[in-house]
Formats: sequence, structure tokens, C-alpha cells
Amino acid sequence: MGWNRVIGQQRVKDLLRRTLMSGKIAHAHLLYGGEGIGKDAIAIEFARALNCLKSTVDPCDECSSCRKFDLLQHPNLKLIFPLPVGKSEKSGDDPVEVLSQDQIAAIHEQLRLKAANPYHRIAVPKANFIKINSVRDLRRDAAMSAFEGGRKVFLISNADAMNAEASNSLLKTLEEPFSDSLFILTASQKELLLETIVSRCQLIRCDPLSEVEIRQALVDRQHVETEQAALTARLARGSYRNALELLAVDMVAQRQEVVQFLRLVLGPQKIPLAEDVERIASSGDRSSVERWLKLLEMWLRDALLLREHGEKGLLNIDHLKELRSFNQGFPRADLAAALESVERSVALVGKNIYLPLVLTTLAVELKRSLSLPP
Ligand SMILES: [Zn+2]
Repeated sequence: MGWNRVIGQQRVKDLLRRTLMSGKIAHAHLLYGGEGIGKDAIAIEFARALNCLKSTVDPCDECSSCRKFDLLQHPNLKLIFPLPVGKSEKSGDDPVEVLSQDQIAAIHEQLRLKAANPYHRIAVPKANFIKINSVRDLRRDAAMSAFEGGRKVFLISNADAMNAEASNSLLKTLEEPFSDSLFILTASQKELLLETIVSRCQLIRCDPLSEVEIRQALVDRQHVETEQAALTARLARGSYRNALELLAVDMVAQRQEVVQFLRLVLGPQKIPLAEDVERIASSGDRSSVERWLKLLEMWLRDALLLREHGEKGLLNIDHLKELRSFNQGFPRADLAAALESVERSVALVGKNIYLPLVLTTLAVELKRSLSLPP
């Protein structure tokens, strides 16, 4: 039955199911919370339930309406998201028709990916914000009646990406009563929305997913091996989208880099370490450096766990040999201090500090705490 495609979020599901049962549905909702935790997925299920031809609370998954929702092709569902600005786009133009063939093809491809996986974040090249013309288009649509007597749902995904013009236009729309239209906004940064928009919405907070929920979803939906699923879930920080992105990178290779880095830190020569720092810092964006640091943190945590308690519960169980030889080589390593250094570095990466500086400082601190004389 419906709602199953939403991972976790039981509290929110129960809340929305109660709302559907009561039939008293606010005309604007704001789902807010971290990235990739399923806000759009919840919104789509809610819209599907509102339009299901057989059931009012749990979408039946079988009727023609439910199936059109699966493809995101139901006439009562309008998805609004950031789009590029057309070459000579004027106020009142159709937000999509003004774009080039390539851009339109990219949008269709993004919608296909979103239909296949509601946790996909729609990303169209050069689309930085939700355009005023998209909101104008929405207003025109909202004035027309719904298809097959259902409820028309306007899902404004990443509503925090509306520019000022679009925000003001949406505010006016929310002030007008449209009897069979419903607006659902999703935002990871609620504070970026106009106060006046927020106050007109029913607020629904969505929480980060638990490690167990993410791990189970990876096994069930992506057919990931249990151990890899556990490792990925731990790194995903409550976001299923993060977990899916992590699957796309070669974590085994990245972990090898972590071990290499530790060897260089603890080795006698400075030049190879400086080169390694440069390479890691330039190998990608901040989030990939952060991921690399998390792998380092997990590795050091395992070394500590192995030394104090044994093999049980190790995440890098396939690296047992390396962990053992590390502990034998550095029996007096202050692993707790090393872990603190890594945590500090993670925080600094998030604060826009120059990456090579963060990593060099980390290398110096690690050398000090790990290579204590016997
Ligand atoms: Zn149905």
C-alpha cells in the first residue's frame, strides 16, 4: 500500500494520515528539515492519497490516478523547481517554453529520475532559483479546476530557492482562496523563506533518518550488501540522498587514501605528505573532503575499539590486518586526541576555511598524538 515508498518518517506519515482521515486539510503546507530525508517523497505520497480513486488515506497503488502519480504525470500534480532563465525571457512567458531544446530535454530527464526515485534532487544546469514566471504559471493553473474531481497539488520543491520576486508572487497566491488547490512547499532552510509565507502554511517538521532506516532502505531498494549498507548509512548523516551519493563514489579507494595519508603523516618525510595534502584538498568539493575526513575518523575509531575491546563492532572489519599492524606499530597512540583533531577539522571544512591549511594542521596534530615515543 501507499506511503511505503517513504523511508521512515513515521510521525509525519501518521500526522498526514490523520489529516486525510479528518478531511480538514489546510490549503498550504510547509515540509521542512534536512536535505535528502524525504520531504518531496512525503509530499508526493500525500498528493497521491488526495487523488486516489479508491481510498482516501492510503493510496491504493493500483488505480489510474495512483499510476499516473508514479510517473509524476498526473494532471493534478504540478512540480515547481528551479529553472534556468530563457535567453529573451519576458515577464509572463511560459517558464519552460522559453528554454532551448537541450534545456527542455534536461528537465524531462530530471523529472524521469525524480519519478523513479523521489529522493533524487532535481538539478537542471544553470538553474539557480525558482523563477517568477514559474509562480505566475502556477497562479494561472490554480485558477482552473482539478481533473477528475481530485485535488490539484502544487509541489514547490526547494521553496527556499525562490527569488524575491517569486516569493512575493507566491505570497499573493497563498492569500487567494482556490477551493480545490493545495500548495505544498518543501525547504531545507526554512529561515530563507518570507516570514509571511511561513505563517500561511501548516508547518510540518521532518527529522533526519536513523542509521537503521537508511541501512535497511539501501539493502531493500538498492540491493547493497549488508556491510557496505552499514558503512554507507553511518556516513550519510540522516540523509538517504547522501547515502545514494556515497554509493556512487568508490569508498574502498577513498579509504585506501586514508590509510596512505596516515602512513605519510607518521613517516619521516615531509614532502610526500605536503603533496598528498594538496591532492586531497584539490580532489573535489568540501563535501568530498568532509567524507574523506569521516572515513579517517571511522578508521581511527576502529583502531581504538580494537585496542580497547577487540574485533566486535568494527566498521572496517575488512581492514583488520592494517588496523592490527597500526596498533602494534603505535601502541601508545593517543587515539582519543587524534579523533578530536579530526572532528575539529570536519567543523572547519564546513566553515569555508582554506582546505590545505585545515589538512596540514590536522597532519601536524595527528603526528603529535599518534607517534608518541614508547
Ligand atoms: Zn489509487
